[in-house]
Amino acid sequence: MLKGKTALVTGSTSGIGLGIAKALAAQGANIVLNGFGDVEGPKAEIATLGVQVAYHGADMSKPADIEDMMKFAAAQFGQVDILVNNAGIQHVARIENFPVEKWDAVIAINLSSAFHATRLALPAMLAADKGKGWGRIINIASAHGLVGSPEKSAYVAAKHGIVGLTKVTALENATTGVTCNAICPGWVLTPLVQKQVDARAAAGGISIDAATQQLLGEKEPSLQFTTPEELGALAVFFCSPAGNNVRGVAWNMDGGWVAQ
Ligand code: NAD
Repeated sequence: MLKGKTALVTGSTSGIGLGIAKALAAQGANIVLNGFGDVEGPKAEIATLGVQVAYHGADMSKPADIEDMMKFAAAQFGQVDILVNNAGIQHVARIENFPVEKWDAVIAINLSSAFHATRLALPAMLAADKGKGWGRIINIASAHGLVGSPEKSAYVAAKHGIVGLTKVTALENATTGVTCNAICPGWVLTPLVQKQVDARAAAGGISIDAATQQLLGEKEPSLQFTTPEELGALAVFFCSPAGNNVRGVAWNMDGGWVAQ
């Protein structure tokens, strides 16, 4: 379905971003990976799906790096058709104890990076399909883009912000073939969440299993993690013809978290 298209997924060396990159590659899209840590493993996984894969190591907290990455993607593949703004970090502390540099980093990586990548991707998307425009911008928000939790001020602010950015991006391009939507996952067992499980186990003197059940039980009626594969399937739907007129939604996939 996406043969000939190029998808750039930020923060795609791990977790949800890698799951979404694999789902888009399985539909034939060429992939630009980004993120830290192991690069060769994810690159090889994508390459086995028979598409072209490139990598750029932009630090998403740095606008100049993001500009360089967007130029690199255009040079490699002509243009970016699908942009998935996924890179994100977490920091957990009460507001009065929240380190200022952590606040700045969470806002830069989880929110401002999406603004920069979007502003740089839009001109080519709007010019695509002989000027009618074609593009998909998918912002990975969170259940925390819709509701709050204590000790996550920067994250909740950034995720509510990205839901707002999604709506404005969708509205500004509503008469074109460029859509923008947000995905709002509940708990997904990635390194980002494993750290929170480990911290909970250590603080409570309980097992990892017990801490996992506690974490799920507090928020998710389904008592189940959402998987990167399920989130990848939702991203594929947004990119499909059936998604042509889905604009500005914040779609939660969260085991009932925000239905409560
Ligand atoms: P993860 O830690 O597994 O992956 C994060 C990715 O972002 C990695 O590839 C990492 O290298 C990259 N990254 C981090 N800082 C970066 C930077 N400065 N520049 C470039 N890349 C950087 O986390 P994840 O759980 O897969 O999270 C992905 C997204 O999903 C985040 O935006 C997160 O807020 C969101 N999310 C996660 C959950 C969850 O339960 N795991 C729930 C809701 C939303």
